[in-house]
Amino acid sequence: MQCDSNNGRNDMSLAALVGETVSLERHASGLRGACPLHSDPSRSLYVSTVLDCFHCFGCGRSGDAVKWIMIRDRRDRETAEAILEVWQKGKGLGRL
Ligand SMILES: [Zn+2]
Repeated sequence: MQCDSNNGRNDMSLAALVGETVSLERHASGLRGACPLHSDPSRSLYVSTVLDCFHCFGCGRSGDAVKWIMIRDRRDRETAEAILEVWQKGKGLGRL
């Protein structure tokens, strides 16, 4: 599994973020659930809590928390970063 857009920022909030829209279950060293980005009958979305990134084995999308918001909400990177920052503040999570 690879994470193409995690630039080393490790805010450890991706699982919580994805968990807001996807029901996740423990799987191997991370979590998995049904991907909301494509029609998914087989829980092919994998979230690594170690790498803090996601990868879908169904549609092939992967990335970090910002990328998740970009795809989910169809936003550009700048807007997605702003959404993430507001979300993290609301959760009491700081950005490292
Ligand atoms: Zn998918």
